[in-house]
Amino acid sequence: MERITSIRGFRDILPGESEKWQFVEEKAREIFGAYGVREIRIPILEKTDLFRRGIGETTDVVEKEMYTFVDRGEESLTLRPEATASVIRAYIEHNFFETDPVTKLFTIGPMFRRERPQKGRYRQFHQINVEMLGYEDPRIDGELISMLMLFLSELGIEDLDLEINSLGCADCRPVFREEVVRFLDHREESLCPDCRRRLQTNPLRVFDCKVETCGEAVREAPVILDSICAGCRDHFEKVKNLLDTLAVPFRVNPRMVRGLDYYKRTAFEVIGHSLGSQNAVAGGGRYDGLVQELGGPDIPGIGFAIGFERLVSMLPGDETRFSSKPSLYVATLGTAAETFAFRLLHNLRKTGLQAETDYSGKSLKAQMKRAGRSGAPYALIVGENELAEGAVVLRDMGAGAQEKVAISELHAKLKEIFHVR
Ligand code: AMP
Repeated sequence: MERITSIRGFRDILPGESEKWQFVEEKAREIFGAYGVREIRIPILEKTDLFRRGIGETTDVVEKEMYTFVDRGEESLTLRPEATASVIRAYIEHNFFETDPVTKLFTIGPMFRRERPQKGRYRQFHQINVEMLGYEDPRIDGELISMLMLFLSELGIEDLDLEINSLGCADCRPVFREEVVRFLDHREESLCPDCRRRLQTNPLRVFDCKVETCGEAVREAPVILDSICAGCRDHFEKVKNLLDTLAVPFRVNPRMVRGLDYYKRTAFEVIGHSLGSQNAVAGGGRYDGLVQELGGPDIPGIGFAIGFERLVSMLPGDETRFSSKPSLYVATLGTAAETFAFRLLHNLRKTGLQAETDYSGKSLKAQMKRAGRSGAPYALIVGENELAEGAVVLRDMGAGAQEKVAISELHAKLKEIFHVR
């Protein structure tokens, strides 16, 4: 039969790697919890209009990367390409702002973008998203960014650069946009076809373009920091001071624009130098106005998204840091021993001990070989003769030493070794 394989750009997360994912998720819950950020779980499928309106019609994501289809009820639906729009939709739909205008939420899950797959870029990828809604005060920017950096450092990830910028607001960004258009008008011939189109629709996107000639064209372009208004400048200065206060190192990158339209004022990215060409491990920014844009009240917000795959690829430590090995391997000899071991395993696992055995019916020697391969530090050998005496043999696999243990003493003995319940 012909094999059916997975879809290009979609990957399996196998045991060995999945332990790393669990480790990261636990750390996220722990650190975010300390900041009062609570988990929200949202659907993967949303109405297409949510992303069109939320992300922006002229962004790459909406223009060419979404998995959009018409379902059997003739409705246009889209697999979410990012989480912020969905979180805000839920925030509005459930009237969060009525109980408390300040809401801090996180969500972890898959996103879908039909980009060209390569190392660090997939069509189904995962993000850890945090959104903090309700404050305009720059202290929330400082809190969110420093929490992100704390999280990354608690995972042991080093060699990171935090880059920040201000993208201005509804008052000053249009002025900058005009300046950019004026600047690029003379250089249209060096822009790629996409960017020529962007010049009409969304000129700031040119800053993001990966085509070399476009990169050269914007090298001398005006930067937004030179034209932001007094309010935005003040906000940006305060954010920088707050990061300094917490000794969070950062670099101002005046050319960073970010790929999604909704960002206002503070924008930031975390660059991982070991990542290769797709080197952004996290990105985010302030999106005052988005809640209103999606039909809610005028509530400001700021958030970030961490790329889970890229994060996991940067985790230090070899397999042993994350792998889960059985603590105890149970080998048996004879039918009576098998029955006894079956019950024993059930009771051991009830105490939380990771215990493994072999049902293949192979020789004791073969079972012990598997016990060795399993990496379990101890093996329990249940033999017919010992069992008749009311005992089993406990073998220390590392030391190669073994001792007879009375079944009545077994629980106490294992408790001593493994600190189980
Ligand atoms: P964005 O939502 O575009 O701001 O992306 C936030 C983070 O998600 C990026 O910094 C990446 O780490 C990650 N990311 C974005 N797109 C992909 C992708 N196609 N494959 C893997 N990770 C991605």
